[in-house]
Amino acid sequence: MQFVDPLIPRKCRILVVDDSQFERVQITRRVQLDGAEFLEAVDAREAIQIARTQSPDLILLDVNLPDVSGFEVLATLKEDPATQSIPVIFLSGYDSTANKVKGLELGAIDYVAKPFDPPELRARIRVGLRLKQYHDMLEKQAYLDALTGLANRHALEHRLNAEWAACGRRATQLSLMIIDIDFFKRVNDTHGHAAGDATLQRMAAALGAVARSSDLVARYGGEEFVLVAPDCDMMGALALAERIRAQVESLSLTFDDSRLKVTASVGVASATVPILRSDATPMFLLNRADRALYDAKSAGRNTVWAWAASDTRPCWAPLINSLVRSV
Ligand code: GH3
Ligand code: MG
Ligand code: MG
Repeated sequence: MQFVDPLIPRKCRILVVDDSQFERVQITRRVQLDGAEFLEAVDAREAIQIARTQSPDLILLDVNLPDVSGFEVLATLKEDPATQSIPVIFLSGYDSTANKVKGLELGAIDYVAKPFDPPELRARIRVGLRLKQYHDMLEKQAYLDALTGLANRHALEHRLNAEWAACGRRATQLSLMIIDIDFFKRVNDTHGHAAGDATLQRMAAALGAVARSSDLVARYGGEEFVLVAPDCDMMGALALAERIRAQVESLSLTFDDSRLKVTASVGVASATVPILRSDATPMFLLNRADRALYDAKSAGRNTVWAWAASDTRPCWAPLINSLVRSV
């Protein structure tokens, strides 16, 4: 009887790396794993390239390859974040204890001697696929906010660092805004925590609908959200922030037969190329957006405040619009 793990995907791609065509045919024909598609590589260079570009779910790796050894291939895969979580099973005619230990210590999940027994290899592949699936699930959860399904703060930090570097390289601007629900405590106090949670979920959906697919929307804290807009200048960010503010104001929420209106304040900041390429870090944007948000709150809420590039203090967004237009 076979344990059917619902986590094992019905379709999977397995990369077979072996310089011998005979061996590759043996593996792809005899393993017979339902739903498996086999990719093939004949040497280390091709193996690494396919692993990077096609993200297989598992790699069956020969130890003896014509260019460099399978051990070196594994070491290279482990160095690259794009390939380091792909499970690798060594397949080798040399099954000395020393080789097995070396392969496993380098991070392979298994080491199988050739000639292999097909049912055993199939079972070991399934173990590898299950491990990969658990890994992917945990990784996804580590980056997601459970309540809203948005990226969490951890994911935001990763993406913001990457976009900071990428916008600097592309010589474009990077904008960021913090969106904070006004008087959210009152929603909880008046309608209960469940209504507060539902409001956060509606907010998340509204932000997701307004953002571009290249933007990142994250839950930053309790009732604070951050939108990161790559390749977006201050004027573009202001227009987006105003759309978000208006969208939140127009949300129609009903709890216990009573209607609830919410508003949000938004703090916006942008980084231009000289800043992106300087020693500054993404904290520059977070700090500035936070400061602008503080001023939006002080100015009466339900409003957008931002830093005009030359200003030493944040100001009301419509004022920036008119300032820039008059230049
Ligand atoms: P302000 O306009 O100044 O932003 O006022 P506020 O009431 O929105 O801000 P404050 O920081 O005083 O209160 C935030 C509230 O958000 C308090 C906290 O109970 C609530 N909150 C934080 N996380 C959650 C959550 O996950 N669910 C719910 N329902 N409420 C939350
Ligand atoms: Mg608030
Ligand atoms: Mg807050």
